Amino acid sequence: MRVGTGWDIHRLVEGRPLRIGGVTIESDKGALGHSDGDVLLHALIDALLGACALGDIGKHFPPDDENLKGIDSTILLNRVLPLLEGYEIVNIDCTVILERIRLAPYIDRIRESIASLLSLDISSVSVKAKSAEMMMMEVGTGDALIAQAAVLIEEKDSKEDLYWV
Ligand code: MG
Repeated sequence: MRVGTGWDIHRLVEGRPLRIGGVTIESDKGALGHSDGDVLLHALIDALLGACALGDIGKHFPPDDENLKGIDSTILLNRVLPLLEGYEIVNIDCTVILERIRLAPYIDRIRESIASLLSLDISSVSVKAKSAEMMMMEVGTGDALIAQAAVLIEEKDSKEDLYWV
């Protein structure tokens, strides 16, 4: 088994859509970014790459790559999944830290979205939302948001190995 963690932060500005975990969130502000700015999928991608010791999202998807401008982050996640060759995801646990936007009504939709993207059962996908309690500078004023992700992966045939022991 291997574990990976990821972290990301994006500025929130007017005139951008807000995407979190592949779900569009109703908000007057959205995440600034070269891609669609999906902070949660970016943290998740970093966690998956980290579990495989394959670097980070910037190494695989350089921010100066014009082909990635405005790209849907679900496409980035799909491009990372083949790199997990030989492994399968056991579970993931994520936290989004943001102010003013209530994520509670969206949590299960975000879990379903990530579970579908990763071909996992929803019971293996945890997504939590926390307020910054008006601290943490721009996060506390609602001008930025943060996401953290942890992922556990295991070798695909490890269960069969145990069976035959
Ligand atoms: Mg990012």
